[in-house]
Amino acid sequence: MDLRTGVRAVAIDRDTRQVELAGGERVGYDALLLATGATPRRLAVPGADLDGVLGLRTLPDSDRIAAALVDGSHLVVVGAGWIGLEVAAAARRRGVTVTVVERSELPLLRVLGPGIARVFADLHRDHGVTFRLGAVVQAFRGDGRVSAVLLGDGTELPADAVVAGVGVDPNVALAEQAGLTVDNGVVVDRALRSSDPRIYAAGDIANAYHPLYDTHLRVEHWATALHSGPAAAQSMLGAEVVYDRLPYFYTDQYDLGMEYTGYAPPGRYDTVVVRGDVAEREFVAFWTTGGRVMAGMNVNVWDTTPQIEALIRSNKPVDLARLADPDIALDDLTPIESQPFAAGRSNRS
Ligand code: NAP
Repeated sequence: MDLRTGVRAVAIDRDTRQVELAGGERVGYDALLLATGATPRRLAVPGADLDGVLGLRTLPDSDRIAAALVDGSHLVVVGAGWIGLEVAAAARRRGVTVTVVERSELPLLRVLGPGIARVFADLHRDHGVTFRLGAVVQAFRGDGRVSAVLLGDGTELPADAVVAGVGVDPNVALAEQAGLTVDNGVVVDRALRSSDPRIYAAGDIANAYHPLYDTHLRVEHWATALHSGPAAAQSMLGAEVVYDRLPYFYTDQYDLGMEYTGYAPPGRYDTVVVRGDVAEREFVAFWTTGGRVMAGMNVNVWDTTPQIEALIRSNKPVDLARLADPDIALDDLTPIESQPFAAGRSNRS
């Protein structure tokens, strides 16, 4: 293997099957993997380049945030997604006063829907976080270093530091330059092959066809980075690969730990079923459509991921009253027989 570090790939020549590096050198390929990841979005408002306006992607970013979390200081978090809420929880633990500014009406609304998103809003409020929901940042103020955040309604929030977690954009410039099909990332098939069969994509940039959900999914989580790379490598070596792992992620905030398995965006589920105690933050939530489980999230309940995954993969309706009943083991939920909504098969050995 020839490992080149500190070198930038600037272009792909698909005709000659070569990658051009900065400086002009060209490296040939039979198969090429694009795994260029994503870049955190920056807020395009005045003052965004002041010292103390931070993002989180790399270890040095994390060190900078940790250094800013000083007991008694004020932190403003912009964006109540996973980055924003995990940073808020860490900051509260260090005695920092935290205000979270989010343009939606609830944190994590897009991922969890209103019922379960409220669990996270209550969790953070119970730990002393102030939310400014439905709010937009107009500017960061300060002389060299940030000292306040100006909101659209004219409110000025004091800030010794700001962490922005407002999403990421996939790094698709190389793919676009090469003329590959790009639509919310590099579009790849179930074998992680792009519109050029010699070029593959994995990780944050891959918008991969998922046979179980019968749609393309671009999943920006650690588990995808971990698993899609090896699957792409097998595919590149000629193996028959169907990358159909279910999206999976987890978070730990204060005394709440959870795992989420599956995919259930707004508009693709009709009923959220809960088994357990939401008020106690000890439950499993299931996002269902026509009685079929699309996704499940266990909150302070452990060792249920295999059962949640089996329910999703069964692709058949279950009795929702039994699904909600904690006295019935998840393993004992027999699917009601019906036509599956898409055929799925596993690539896991
Ligand atoms: P994210 O999860 O996409 O959340 C971004 C949040 O910021 C959304 O709620 C979004 O609202 C809001 N937002 C966007 N622009 C805004 C603005 N101008 N003002 C106020 N709010 C704004 O992204 P992230 O938290 O930055 O995380 C980056 C990536 O890392 C994501 O893919 C995330 O899933 C991943 N990550 C995962 C974990 C985990 O799995 N535990 C932990 C950390 C990060 P809208 O929904 O209205 O757009």
